[in-house]
Amino acid sequence: MFVMQEGPDLNRGNINLEKTDPITGLDTTAWFFSQTQRDPNFYPLHKSTITFFNVMNFKTINQRFSYPGGNAYLCKFRDELRRIFEGENVLRAGADHLVVISLNLAIEDIADRIKELNLVMGRFEGGLRNQIKAGIYVSDGSPQKPIVMMDRASLACREVHGIFNKEYAVFDDALKIKLEEKQYVLDHFEEAFEKGYFHVYYQPVVRALTGKVCGYEALARWIDPVKGMISPLIFIDVLEKVHLIHKLDAYIIEQACKDLRDDIDSGYAYQPISVNLSRLDFELSDIKSVIDRVVAKYNVPKEYLVLEVTESAFASDQKSLGETIKEFRDDGYQVWLDDFGSGFSSFNNLQIYDFDFLKIDMNFLRTFDQNPKSRVIIASIVDMAKKLGIHTLAEGVETEEQYEFLKRIGCELIQGYYFYKPIPLEDYHTKRAELCSFETNESPEERHYFDEIGRINFLDNTPLREHKLEIASDIPIAIIEGENRKYRFIFVNNAFKKVMRTFGADTTDEVLNRLHKNDPGILRKRYEGLIHSEETHEIVEFFEDFGDVKIVSKARFLTRMGDKIAYAFVIKVLSAKK
Ligand code: C2E
Ligand code: CA
Ligand code: CA
Repeated sequence: MFVMQEGPDLNRGNINLEKTDPITGLDTTAWFFSQTQRDPNFYPLHKSTITFFNVMNFKTINQRFSYPGGNAYLCKFRDELRRIFEGENVLRAGADHLVVISLNLAIEDIADRIKELNLVMGRFEGGLRNQIKAGIYVSDGSPQKPIVMMDRASLACREVHGIFNKEYAVFDDALKIKLEEKQYVLDHFEEAFEKGYFHVYYQPVVRALTGKVCGYEALARWIDPVKGMISPLIFIDVLEKVHLIHKLDAYIIEQACKDLRDDIDSGYAYQPISVNLSRLDFELSDIKSVIDRVVAKYNVPKEYLVLEVTESAFASDQKSLGETIKEFRDDGYQVWLDDFGSGFSSFNNLQIYDFDFLKIDMNFLRTFDQNPKSRVIIASIVDMAKKLGIHTLAEGVETEEQYEFLKRIGCELIQGYYFYKPIPLEDYHTKRAELCSFETNESPEERHYFDEIGRINFLDNTPLREHKLEIASDIPIAIIEGENRKYRFIFVNNAFKKVMRTFGADTTDEVLNRLHKNDPGILRKRYEGLIHSEETHEIVEFFEDFGDVKIVSKARFLTRMGDKIAYAFVIKVLSAKK
């Protein structure tokens, strides 16, 4: 039995065994399950599939529409479930949890119905964008306690809470193992603390331009005598849930500072170390004092301790978090935004807080080979970060192709298996000559040097200009509309206007006048060029001679509406009056 769930009101203890739920008029799960226990012929539960539904943010609905409004929502939810799952049992398990118990419905079929449910419920009450999540448990045919089956469906449902593009999860072997691992963590973490099973692994960070090591990330590992290595993906979650994460983080921070002190004293090269902070560190402890104390104890330079705060930490809208981050930065620590692009609030965070580095979420690289969009997204993030004056790091780099791409777009730092995996401290000591030599490591002077070089944005068309948060393009561009051989400008940018003025035209009308003054042969050639661009979708080139000023322009057909045709023009001055 799992005890991790904050489960539904199951038919435990003295919960009422009323047959009918007073609000929805549905049968209660408690009553239904008691019937199956009493009478084996009541319903073949052991052959059924249980789909457990949970309304996200039901509290908000109640707050906005008060209880009658909340009840109306539940009744609509009931009606839609009855319609969509016609012929199956629709029950209420308390609160905002409704349950469908079905026979012979395949998972894909249930998935389609969940989708439909969300579509119709999304239109309820002026488009309250309330998602309904579901967890599915398919029984294996053997007799089981109903409460265990329900638990499993509700635990599967919990897996998709807060994941905006997933509506449901199925309780399968992988989830079962994961939950068992979590349970193990829950049962043994105190022992693990006491017996020193937590260790720090370090993963080097590399400068893209040089391939030299320029930092390390400290990553927690639990090395258990029974289970072997337990991943932080399992135990961080649990430690957050039981409000003990700050204890682990304080321990990792202490280890990191201690190791950094040893590095500094060793006479080998040393680098800044980043540690991961949980949102809860800010709530459960005075994290600033904790870190100040450790940094003073080991006398490590503050700029050598990097604090990584994951993007999702900001979702809770916690005021103190923003303030503490500012204090850290004002005091000389570096603060990096981890997992950028993984959540809902990516851009909001950038707008509100200041960070030294942005770590691009590794999920964009996981789809690098299959989905060409990921390259565009990564490049846009780097471009934007540079315009905001923030450095960039890509993590999860596994292939040479990914590395070459990131280097090309000007992403400054790289972390990933392509270069190094996280390894324990002992390995550094045995490989010190190789890993910690001055040849393979960046020096502080080089760090400063390359940090400045890294500010240049290779993706910008004005890379040499210092950007002071203004948006500008130096490429003169215009959109021109033609209709029956008459042309007009729909748009010109500032750079285009600047070129116009070099040949004495203050308005776009003047430009058109000048162009029309050309001899008929030139006009015809230009017209044919534009027709060619529409037919072939090729870029066409024109030379314009305005006396002292000679201009080459390139045009591309964009679109047509009846007789109206739109073209984009880019121009370049070949020679101008001195
Ligand atoms: P994270 O901060 O995003 O850390 C990066 C994770 O990606 C690490 O997983 C690392 O081992 C893994 N990784 C590095 N390079 C590659 C690669 O090329 N390919 C792939 N597929 N993975 C790569 P790890 O160590 O399992 O940590 C998972 C997460 O647990 C971390 O994600 C971090 O959020 C959290 N975490 C780890 N240690 C701590 C800690 O001491 N405190 C807190 N609060 N969280 C921690
Ligand atoms: Ca991290
Ligand atoms: Ca990360």
